[in-house]
Amino acid sequence: MAQLFFRYGAMNSGKSIEILKVAHNYEEQNKRVILMTSALDDRAGVGMIASRIGFERTAIPVKHETDLFETIRETDPHAACVLIDEAQFLQKHHIFEAARVVDELHIPVMAFGLKNDFRNELFEGSKYLLLYADKIEEMKTICWFCAKKAIMNLRIHDGKPVYEGEQVLIGGNESYYPVCRHHYFHPPLDKIEHQD
Ligand SMILES: [Zn+2]
Repeated sequence: MAQLFFRYGAMNSGKSIEILKVAHNYEEQNKRVILMTSALDDRAGVGMIASRIGFERTAIPVKHETDLFETIRETDPHAACVLIDEAQFLQKHHIFEAARVVDELHIPVMAFGLKNDFRNELFEGSKYLLLYADKIEEMKTICWFCAKKAIMNLRIHDGKPVYEGEQVLIGGNESYYPVCRHHYFHPPLDKIEHQD
């Protein structure tokens, strides 16, 4: 039975490398996969899934107006699996379309992304994945500052933590850190490198 999966984790929890690994496992068995990623994240180029350890693949960029269901049906209605990176940036309609891919095309969809934004609110894509996914799984990573599990994402701008502002700001003078709850509110700023 095809299912809609949501695998979430804080920054640097290895989501992109996991996607590339899953894709590789399918393809090794001569099964076709469809790779997709939000067009909003252009750090590695639009339509690229890049892992921090250096592997990268091209992917179908998902824009605001993209209809996931139609795109997948036109691309490969018999694909073995759809893998979506940066799913936090998807919109409500994308999640509904992904659910239709599972229920009507019977293709499993695995969406990977952040759950909490830097203000510690849910991203839209993550909210609807949490509500509509058949299976939800946490990808664990540890706090940047201690050995606890990181459950939040800290935004640092000019060496200072930021808790308000636009939810999505890519390519600015910002850096993000996976953190535990305590260090989200009390980051040891002397351990953060100035990146400008
Ligand atoms: Zn910590």
